[in-house]
Amino acid sequence: MKFFDLCNSRIARLREDRAAQDSRDQTWMRITTYSLMKLLVRQGRYSERIIIFIPLTVFLILGCQGSRAGKSNVQPNTDAAEVSLKETAAGSAKFTEADFARHVNQVTARIRKTASSADFSIVIEPPFVVIGDEPLKVVKQRAADTVKWSVDRLKQDYFTKDPEEILDIWLFKDAASYEKHARLLFGETPTTPYGYYSSTHKALIMNIATGGGTLVHEIVHPFMEANFPACPPWLNEGLGSLYEQCGEENGHIHGFVNWRLNGLQKAIRAGTVPSFKTLTAMDTSAFYNDDKGTNYSQSRYLCYYMQEKGVLVKFYQEFLAHQKEDPSGFKNLQKVLAETDMDAFKRKWEKYVLALGEDFELRPVRP
Ligand SMILES: [Zn+2]
Repeated sequence: MKFFDLCNSRIARLREDRAAQDSRDQTWMRITTYSLMKLLVRQGRYSERIIIFIPLTVFLILGCQGSRAGKSNVQPNTDAAEVSLKETAAGSAKFTEADFARHVNQVTARIRKTASSADFSIVIEPPFVVIGDEPLKVVKQRAADTVKWSVDRLKQDYFTKDPEEILDIWLFKDAASYEKHARLLFGETPTTPYGYYSSTHKALIMNIATGGGTLVHEIVHPFMEANFPACPPWLNEGLGSLYEQCGEENGHIHGFVNWRLNGLQKAIRAGTVPSFKTLTAMDTSAFYNDDKGTNYSQSRYLCYYMQEKGVLVKFYQEFLAHQKEDPSGFKNLQKVLAETDMDAFKRKWEKYVLALGEDFELRPVRP
């Protein structure tokens, strides 16, 4: 009972933190330590405008804010672009300014090819390039508040390597734009209304109208691919979906209870949730294709349980270090949880998950 009591008081605190974060989202423009230098490129032959935003250090910004205030958005500022690309590259351990410049050129060429009439803004947020068809300040806000925020915190706890290539994050403003551009840019019809990571296209393709949580989920995948290529689906999706509803606690990324709980509780009551041995042993086909509806949520709430016990990061590191001897992570799970009988543990975990519903307000969509 003590653990649950602790949990309940913690939940109240987390809710307050969450509210504070929501408020932080609203006031980002006031508190950010970043500012952005803009370069507007008018495409003579095409109807779309492509606007590039690049984060600068505070030092540089102080020098450019005055001129930015009075400057029209219409004239390209190539000097500014050159300086800011250098700064941007300095923020990336892996890619140079020339790499980002080349990549942005490829992105603009790709947009032109689609003959889309949308206005796109481009923000460089290493190791990503964020491209959106929303107003400029919204795209830069998402790049800072969601992409940079989560990348910094995921790296702090889990990931030491950036993805091998610069990846694009496409943020489409609504379902119509998401579906249209997935087709025009990638020849694909999305199978999810939220967004997905395409390893083939080196891109995260998002309907950002559904919220930033799915974006954080998808950001986990390319980092996992770069840092733990043999990671089994349960941990890849468990960690991704843990952070689709997240905030910060003690300076670290923290997952909250979310909409996946309800279905999992129903399955627990129905006795249809597989054993952890079965879940962790699932290959890609078993996890994704033969999912009876609980693979994501079971994985998520296993990660959530470890997070609440304070052993999630430890588990990730232990598993990463011993993946050859234990490719599913099951043995490391037992070790970190200090559980010998995993069937008994499952009963304990199920009780824990069922109790979560008593105190949490479920949110249907992410932050
Ligand atoms: Zn995923």
